[in-house]
Amino acid sequence: MTNGTRAGAPPIEGRYFEPGSARAFPARMTISGHLATISFDRDGASHSSVREVLAVGARLGSVPRRIELEGGALFEAPADARIDAAGDRESRMLARVFDLEASWRTVAILVVATVVSVVLLLLYGVPTLANVAARMTPASVSALMDAGTLKTVDQTLLSPSQLSVERRQALADRFSRLAMQAETGSVPLALVFRSSPIVGANAFALPGGTVILTDELVLMARTPDEIDGVLAHEIGHVEARHTLQMLYRAAGLAVMVGVIAGDSGQMVDTLLAQAASLQQLSYSREFEAAADRRSVELMLAAGEGRDPLAFVDLLDRLLEQLSPGASHQGDSFFSTHPGNPDRRNAVLTHARSLGWGS
Ligand SMILES: [Zn+2]
Repeated sequence: MTNGTRAGAPPIEGRYFEPGSARAFPARMTISGHLATISFDRDGASHSSVREVLAVGARLGSVPRRIELEGGALFEAPADARIDAAGDRESRMLARVFDLEASWRTVAILVVATVVSVVLLLLYGVPTLANVAARMTPASVSALMDAGTLKTVDQTLLSPSQLSVERRQALADRFSRLAMQAETGSVPLALVFRSSPIVGANAFALPGGTVILTDELVLMARTPDEIDGVLAHEIGHVEARHTLQMLYRAAGLAVMVGVIAGDSGQMVDTLLAQAASLQQLSYSREFEAAADRRSVELMLAAGEGRDPLAFVDLLDRLLEQLSPGASHQGDSFFSTHPGNPDRRNAVLTHARSLGWGS
């Protein structure tokens, strides 16, 4: 006895019908895995047949239990308490086998995804796997994450913008000209305005392309280019799926495998739970530097004489304003950035390499 059938379990007594035959033979059946072994007497001789179990009929009062077998054979067990008990145990086990077999594609895909994921993990580590998962995340899933996160931060950290409609419209127009240069694939970019004395001057990119801009940052800026540069930096985070990558690094292997396997439905809840703590995540320096470079590129591509270094001026003023050692939560423009002189140099070098200022 193997595969969960208890050793010593009695065979199920019943009647066996051979394929295409209405003639019943008294028989005994044992089930191991999804194979049934039937012993029966026919014309005075003992016969034995091993057949795959296709379906186990439900127990309905005193109606005999029907077990459909491979090839059209049938085993019928009379309604007997002892047999029902055995049958229940077998059918519970069989139900699990059938559930799995019914979704064999899912199983196969998950197995392949797990193998691929583990190989990626061993060769390149968690960041690469998070990158793959981030790029395979459907836009519909990240849009859900944005909606959930925005709802949470609106209830806790943010309040409606106090900027005039005209001011917001002008900023949105400039943002859309940057967004036209962006390469976010199927992820749509959207600028939303909020006020937040708690968060202060800041901007955030959510995984689904929502960029939150605070009134406080707008009011601190001296030129439109300063704001544009920050927004272009946030667009850079969206393009490179930085926020999703941070979420996946935090969420762990199981969630990443699920996404890579295309099992996004079941992963949405887990990711939404992670997204709720989005404001506790912060980007790596590598992501910040990449977003800075992308900001320079988008500012130059958008034209209209935009200054790709302007946002560093804004950053300088903000850092002056901050008390030393102040910690800033966040998936934030100002968190975990490289030291500012380094940042300015890197931005300048990149801008020059693209022909700016020459
Ligand atoms: Zn950033």
